[in-house]
Amino acid sequence: MSIPIAVTDRVFVLTGAGISAESGLPTFRASDGLWAGYNVEEVCTPEALRRNPALVWEFYAKRRADCQKAAPNLAHFALAELEARLPGRFFLCTQNVDDLHERAGSHNLVHMHGELAKSRCERECGRPPVEDHVIYANLDQVPRCPCGGRLRPHIVFFGEIPLEMPRIEREIAECTLMLVVGTSGSVYPAANFVHWARQAGARTVYIGPEAPLNAGAFTHIVEGKAGEVLPGLFTVA
Ligand code: NAD
Repeated sequence: MSIPIAVTDRVFVLTGAGISAESGLPTFRASDGLWAGYNVEEVCTPEALRRNPALVWEFYAKRRADCQKAAPNLAHFALAELEARLPGRFFLCTQNVDDLHERAGSHNLVHMHGELAKSRCERECGRPPVEDHVIYANLDQVPRCPCGGRLRPHIVFFGEIPLEMPRIEREIAECTLMLVVGTSGSVYPAANFVHWARQAGARTVYIGPEAPLNAGAFTHIVEGKAGEVLPGLFTVA
């Protein structure tokens, strides 16, 4: 199968945990609501951060370490190459908190659910997130913000508002082709993006080994692993 991209097309790509699966980073649907063996309620919510910040940091320190050991796969590289062929007409929105898209060479991207390699003040004092690659061994090692608040992972927890939504909404309204890769269609608002794109008249393509929960909203479904399907999938006019 080949997906033609015309000179008039604007491409919006949404990626989820599935695109990093072939890099060895576990998805979370794969294990029944557990993410890498942890119950997400206990590590990915604002309540968890208040109740047990040590456990939240333990979880994200492990994710940081895993991410540092992982390398981008063929799917990440295929999207970076597509961006290079579509200057000014390509936008990537990832739900992933790893940095494998950047390391593959993607530039025009947003991390709507935050980034593992950054931390910010847990008091939301207004200071911007800072780069943070440290694998903290315990809570005592986690630094404080100049305001006195402890740093927290720069991650959008369940129940928090995703980042960059106005820009994402603008890009969806303008796209003519939406590609969605490796996401189960169960986390909102990302699961709604395909509906917004369809309403705006775009073609919508899903790529992954199984149909997502919102499969009915796609004009095409390409079944397969992202790293096997994405390279060579596009014909750019
Ligand atoms: P999910 O875990 O709910 O679903 C993963 C999807 O990927 C499934 O539909 C599965 O069929 C598909 N998949 C599995 N292997 C694949 C492959 N080789 N190629 C293509 N698709 C494949 O993931 P989600 O919908 O992204 O939601 C999980 C949330 O958890 C996200 O919002 C994300 O922030 C977070 N998360 C991030 C990472 C990461 O940064 N790498 C990893 C796990 C979870």
